[in-house]
Amino acid sequence: MDQSKKLAIVTGGGSGIGLATTEAFVKNGIQTIIIGRDENKLKEASSNLGELCAYRVYDLSETSGMPALISEIVASFGAPDILVNNAGINMKKPFTEVTDDDFKLIIQTNLNAVFSLTREVVKVMLPKGSGSIINISSMSSQYGIPYVIAYTATKSAIEGMTRAMATELSPMGIRVNCVAPGFIATAMSTKALSNDPQRMNKVMSRTPMGKLGEPADVAQSILYLASDAAKYVTGVVLPVDGGNSIGF
Ligand code: NAD
Repeated sequence: MDQSKKLAIVTGGGSGIGLATTEAFVKNGIQTIIIGRDENKLKEASSNLGELCAYRVYDLSETSGMPALISEIVASFGAPDILVNNAGINMKKPFTEVTDDDFKLIIQTNLNAVFSLTREVVKVMLPKGSGSIINISSMSSQYGIPYVIAYTATKSAIEGMTRAMATELSPMGIRVNCVAPGFIATAMSTKALSNDPQRMNKVMSRTPMGKLGEPADVAQSILYLASDAAKYVTGVVLPVDGGNSIGF
């Protein structure tokens, strides 16, 4: 796929699925700007990936600065063709121990930030009449998972928002899709599964392919949805999960 001359923004591009996506984009000639909080991780990714990867340090839980962030990126690089809303946080706690502040932080990072950033990016995609937005949901929106109430609320909302945005924006040339990763070997899943053999067994017992996915597995599906190969695909939620969502 020759995607050269395209410009992408990948949130949380310094680690895990976001980093693998950035690697796949850069390999395919896509200039990619990664946004995250940890300057060291971003700098390392950018210097490993070369001149097609630039970074901006920004805490996405702060939505008020997003118009200025996107304006600065547009002034420096032009209007993006691709936005991957990948950054996210999780919190595993029994339902009654989740405080209002815990709940709000997850909603702010995983949902409000996706809305605000996408709105600003869509404003600059509309005049071009083209764009591809890829949101990231989770198995928690395919079936019920205990101890992740706030995370589940955000990921279910992401899927609904994907469909609503796709119906509104596709007539203007902007495709909106979602990838629902299964259990993928990253820092996030390690935190959730490494000290919980019961949960790990449950994951494996319902994953027909019998193993965790790799970040690159998800990245390839994001690359496909971002590319012209998916030019008639909009509003879908694509599980990349080794069969986990259909496992018995
Ligand atoms: P990860 O923890 O490696 O990556 C998440 C990235 O988001 C990090 O780089 C982090 O710095 C960034 N981030 C978080 N909060 C941020 C903020 N406020 N501002 C800026 N950046 C912020 O985890 P991952 O597994 O690669 O997760 C990527 C996405 O995939 C997330 O949306 C996650 O919910 C989703 N997901 C992961 C799995 C899995 O098994 N790993 C499964 C389903 C969905």
